[in-house]
Amino acid sequence: MSFYVTLHCRVNDTPLKSSLGSEHSILRRQEKLQAEFAMSSRPPALRKFQVGWICALAIEVAAAKEMLDVNFGILSKQDSLDTNAYILGRIGEHHIVIASLPEGQYGTTSATTVAVNMMRTFSGSIRIGLMVGTGGGIPSVSHDIPLGDVVVGCPDGTCGGIIQYDLGKAVAGGKYHQTGSLNSPPRSLLNAVIHMKATEYTDYLSYNGYVQKAIKRNSKTRQTFSRPDPRNDRLFEVDYEHPPNATTCDNCLPEEEKARNTRREATPQVHYGIIASGNTVIKHGATRGALYRETGALCFEMETAGLIMDFPCIVIRGICDYADSHKNKNWQGYASLVAAAYPKELLSYIPVGQVSQEKVLRDVCSEIVHEIKDVNKSLEKAYLQHERHHNEQRRTALTKEQQECHQAFKTSTYE
Ligand SMILES: [Zn+2]
Repeated sequence: MSFYVTLHCRVNDTPLKSSLGSEHSILRRQEKLQAEFAMSSRPPALRKFQVGWICALAIEVAAAKEMLDVNFGILSKQDSLDTNAYILGRIGEHHIVIASLPEGQYGTTSATTVAVNMMRTFSGSIRIGLMVGTGGGIPSVSHDIPLGDVVVGCPDGTCGGIIQYDLGKAVAGGKYHQTGSLNSPPRSLLNAVIHMKATEYTDYLSYNGYVQKAIKRNSKTRQTFSRPDPRNDRLFEVDYEHPPNATTCDNCLPEEEKARNTRREATPQVHYGIIASGNTVIKHGATRGALYRETGALCFEMETAGLIMDFPCIVIRGICDYADSHKNKNWQGYASLVAAAYPKELLSYIPVGQVSQEKVLRDVCSEIVHEIKDVNKSLEKAYLQHERHHNEQRRTALTKEQQECHQAFKTSTYE
């Protein structure tokens, strides 16, 4: 099997200075810079790519790309069963593979599929994974988590940082059914978390600077990633439901908003703790509250649900809604970008040699073939469930008259 990379490089920090004297010396300088650029942007051997960065949505991939110091472009040939799209890049000394699924594949369990596919092509080189994207915040008395903050899944008590559970069973039985939890993140990532937390006691961290630089890069990035007006960050009482047909919260009642402390600085903050990962989207304040009481989680997401227990990764989520009926996508761009900026800084606390000491995926996930089969089965099941649900919704949407018409049509075909 052979691999090669399509060269489509961009170095994010290579300003071309023009005040260099004569035209001749300017040309020579430009040639030298071009040669240096070609050298610096030539992708190294694939075995050097030790960090897998996994996203589910296109906007999360866009945010991840903004964080690369060097973008080596796409990987154009890979394992024939691997359907991921890859971008290769570098942050500091770390070589990164950004992976996502092609648009429209298996919505709810996409990140799991991405991880499994990544193991097909990179099981011999990748040693640590970063699951980066957006999630629904679970603000509580102990953790006020406004939109645009970051939650990082970290060990707490006996939990490795991610609790997986089946919400379908939870709703039917009135109780949550925990289906498992991921192992703790790899030691090199947890060491980096400690160093980053220690730095925060005495110095300002850099990730907000990365966010601001990416927003300002051009008019498109401003449009996609700018921080929305904080007045649009509205946390309502758990039992106050969004009007069914309203597309915005403009008419949702201010007196139903929870009182919160206003932050002096707009800088996003990082919270460390448990992330709950389920198989169904939550759009219900009371369910969010119950989930918090059961798990103590700071954030809810769907992407990591079903991920192989041994997959050596850390989960990072930018908060874009509160998992209630008022949920919308207004904060998705900014939350994606903030989430992507955190691991860029985190990686600066990890020497490359320390990552090399972690085991490669092939050795960590020793029963990889067996696991891949199991995950594929559960993906198939999730997909069929989703399709059944969709068909049921379509059926209830049809009026009696339409159903009769539909039935008449059905009997006149081979369906
Ligand atoms: Zn609303």
